[in-house]
Amino acid sequence: MRAFSCGVCGNLLVAENSVCVSCGTAQGFSPAVMRFVPVDVASGMASGSAVQCANLAAAGCNWLVDDGHAGRLCVSCRLTRTRPNDEDAAAVAVWASTESAKRRLVYQLLDLGLPVVPRSDDARGLAFDLLSSARSPVVTGHADGVVTIDLAEGHDAHREAMRVQMGEPYRTMLGHLRHEVGHYYWQVLVRGNGLVGNGLAGGQGPASESPALQRFRHVFGDERSDYRQALRRHYATGPPRGWAAGHVSAYATAHPWEDWAETFAHYLHIRDTLQSAAAYGMVVTGPEEPGPGVDLVALPLEDAAAGDTIGSVVGTWLPLTYALNAVNRSMGKGDLYPFVLTPPVISKLGVVHDLVVGVRV
Ligand SMILES: [Zn+2]
Ligand SMILES: [Zn+2]
Ligand SMILES: [Zn+2]
Repeated sequence: MRAFSCGVCGNLLVAENSVCVSCGTAQGFSPAVMRFVPVDVASGMASGSAVQCANLAAAGCNWLVDDGHAGRLCVSCRLTRTRPNDEDAAAVAVWASTESAKRRLVYQLLDLGLPVVPRSDDARGLAFDLLSSARSPVVTGHADGVVTIDLAEGHDAHREAMRVQMGEPYRTMLGHLRHEVGHYYWQVLVRGNGLVGNGLAGGQGPASESPALQRFRHVFGDERSDYRQALRRHYATGPPRGWAAGHVSAYATAHPWEDWAETFAHYLHIRDTLQSAAAYGMVVTGPEEPGPGVDLVALPLEDAAAGDTIGSVVGTWLPLTYALNAVNRSMGKGDLYPFVLTPPVISKLGVVHDLVVGVRV
């Protein structure tokens, strides 16, 4: 994500701010211009007809409604179809932190130029059911544009226990959101649902003839193999030996759809982290002790990625991860990015990259 500043005093603002900590001016994030603007607290209004999102009090949403929508919810909150009852205070607290992670997701989707269409506005759009599993079971997943999230994943103790139980190196709410939304964008970008034009996507034409689908099947495999059976097999026997040579995670081996969703999530991880590094002027020039060296220089440039090949994106990404992993370990934490990107995985990231930068909404 980019760095933001207060329009009144120039102080740094971060994504979660609703007030400038320096001058005290109320702030709202405007999705229309993708930056913060000052808000008049008495009226809840910003410039033009923009108003604060109605979820400000309930969920700490600091976005503005500035797209002329009749409702009082911002574009991110309008994607949420179901959320916990106000009476369920514990679930509401986790819902609020989940909405915060979701705004970070939506910021990036908008920034990448991907269509962000609430399902309440268009049947081809996206919806989130953010559900508490305290009383009845909830399965995190995606089905035809509806992402379901088990809010229990917002509790650190639960999520960390699940991470250890599943043998995963990384598990976050933002990661869940990026993975599940990846399934949705497979429909948009690969199968084609008519929401975007794309040099590769098939639009609403016969899916079997879409170049995007052909390329997907060539690189990720044939998604027509039985999905339920594939998941059952994965949970019964685990990933095949040597899985890391061609997959970014063990779960990616379960089915081509899961491989796509995992790869899509990593693409968002990489693009967002590179953007944040660039926003703060981070430049990696390599370690003091010279090694092979030449590939240990990272110069993240804001917005450069769109015009780049996946090779140059990854070429900037890897040295940055070496540096940030070392910094994290200095604080007694695990690696910031505990993954290996092999050439086949980079090829898969390349398919996602080409489809995302090729979007014409
Ligand atoms: Zn200020
Ligand atoms: Zn909102
Ligand atoms: Zn999945």
